[in-house]
Amino acid sequence: MTDEALIVLENVNKWFGPLHVLQDVDLSVARGEVVVVIGPSGSGKSTLCRAINRLEPIDSGTITFDGRPLPAEGRALARLRSEVGMVFQSFNLFAHKTTLQNVMLGPVKVRREQTAVVRDRAMALLERVGIANQAEKYPAQLSGGQQQRVAIARALAMQPKALLFDEPTSALDPEMVGEVLDVMTSLAREGMTMVVVTHEMGFARHAADRVVFMADGQLVEQAAPEEFFANPRSDRAKDFLSKIL
Ligand code: ADP
Ligand code: MG
Repeated sequence: MTDEALIVLENVNKWFGPLHVLQDVDLSVARGEVVVVIGPSGSGKSTLCRAINRLEPIDSGTITFDGRPLPAEGRALARLRSEVGMVFQSFNLFAHKTTLQNVMLGPVKVRREQTAVVRDRAMALLERVGIANQAEKYPAQLSGGQQQRVAIARALAMQPKALLFDEPTSALDPEMVGEVLDVMTSLAREGMTMVVVTHEMGFARHAADRVVFMADGQLVEQAAPEEFFANPRSDRAKDFLSKIL
């Protein structure tokens, strides 16, 4: 990790009608840093993630990525989306494409890269997430854990500068959570910049550089994981941890 900021949110506000879902949020994520976002349901974690790659526009404040304000539209926005990969709770794979085709699609269709080059990279990524032997299968033929690993390979195929994960293991059967967290942990160790919304406190303890606790649209506290879990400062964080640990 270097100190250079890759993602910077300053004084970010977002409303859904009367609901003030992001309230004066300030957050800076350094290159190579792994930030885990935790907090109760409805606190704005998904909205925060979606704001970072502009799936949700914000109402005030600024977000910069790699030194530039987020573009609002056009090719610059498409480029941002390819530089900030996103992995969702529901894997969102294309059902009528094979594993390999799912991973190749972005680079070939969006980036117009050469098929042969992309195929080699996609196979290497499937190898990396431990699923190369499933390259010709369709999503429905894979387990949930395998599908989520394909989704991670698909995000990596765009050679992103950062990856956002929104509860990537919440839809999985318990026995498949570990295989997805293992892939995420190795990405973290390899220096990928990651923002991870998760309820997996083991992952937060072992892989996060920093834990951010959100409640009611506010970033209530943030600290290194050992410090946060041993000594949460706010009552809301204490209450949250007492319910989940
Ligand atoms: P979290 O991911 O922490 O559970 P969300 O960011 O999904 O929280 O949602 C924060 C709040 O905003 C919730 O009260 C949710 O119901 C509301 N919300 C989320 N998306 C929308 C939307 N598109 N329109 C209206 N309200 C929304
Ligand atoms: Mg959410």
